[in-house]
Amino acid sequence: MRVGFVGLGAMGEHMARNLHKAGLLSAVWNRTPGKAQSLSAELGVPATATLAELAARVDAVVSCVSADADVLEVTNALAPRLAAGAMVIDCSTVAADTARRAADALRVAGAVFLDCPVSGGVEGARDGTLAVMCGGDPEAFERARPILQAMGRTVTLFGPVGSGQAAKATNQIMCAGIIEAVAEAMAFARAQGLPLEKLIDTLGKGAGSSWYFVHRAPNMVRGAYPAGFRVRLHAKDLTICRDMAARFGVSLPVVERMLGEYAELIARGHGDEDISATFRLKAELFGPADGKPRS
Ligand code: NAP
Repeated sequence: MRVGFVGLGAMGEHMARNLHKAGLLSAVWNRTPGKAQSLSAELGVPATATLAELAARVDAVVSCVSADADVLEVTNALAPRLAAGAMVIDCSTVAADTARRAADALRVAGAVFLDCPVSGGVEGARDGTLAVMCGGDPEAFERARPILQAMGRTVTLFGPVGSGQAAKATNQIMCAGIIEAVAEAMAFARAQGLPLEKLIDTLGKGAGSSWYFVHRAPNMVRGAYPAGFRVRLHAKDLTICRDMAARFGVSLPVVERMLGEYAELIARGHGDEDISATFRLKAELFGPADGKPRS
């Protein structure tokens, strides 16, 4: 199986490296060509000049780009040159409707689409331990399995195209609640004068722990929020969740609260920081923006 990779961002670069380790990576493409060229030079895998060129070389394309319009743009550019039966495995987080639109566009071209969004952060992408939530045809999923298993530890088909994105939206609602709780608790702990590293070490083994607490509370101690998972990307995901819930006439309180906090962070210029930057707002509950707790 020859696999091409599109979108060498914070997640995609690691995922492409893991495909290379599994002997599957045949070509890479990135919108900003420098990233593809340097990975190409390092791994000895060709970087194509265009998406069409990539499509013509491979049996499957894995994409991991930012948002809905980007997935459709990439899929439409790939479609005319993909061989019959070739697969596009999209690991971006987008709306289930976008996945269905991409699948329709590829079906016309004789190719197959699987929505396969991932969870596990940049660390999961690096370590090949992502949870992969898939939607699509079961036969295509089985063909894609070796590719998915090169990037993730848990790979699950939930149903037809769009089901992977529905599962991912569920995950993103949980992430919103957890990152908010972690940021609020850490601001509280700092105001109590607790030794924060010790706290993370101990509570990290307790019932209130989570992946976000263990991996991102240290950002809050350092006051540095490198991406990570960008605030603006999680805001994009929560807008998808809002739209999906609205179809049931429902407004989700956790989603609405986090969208408000992210809008504030983006307005202050923190949209490209990791979502643990939520701590900036929670810390202000206890004191001024200079970060020193109110005594
Ligand atoms: P990122 O670091 O911002 O990278 C985005 C990638 O998409 C870059 O390679 C970018 O190219 C490419 N791209 C964006 N728009 C494009 C377009 N119109 N055409 C072609 N390429 C385009 O983002 P990321 O953190 O890797 O996230 C990628 C996806 O995974 C998002 O949907 C995100 O929600 C999801 N995700 C992220 C995490 C995480 O922890 N970061 C976890 C799970 C899922 P350039 O290099 O030219 O900008």
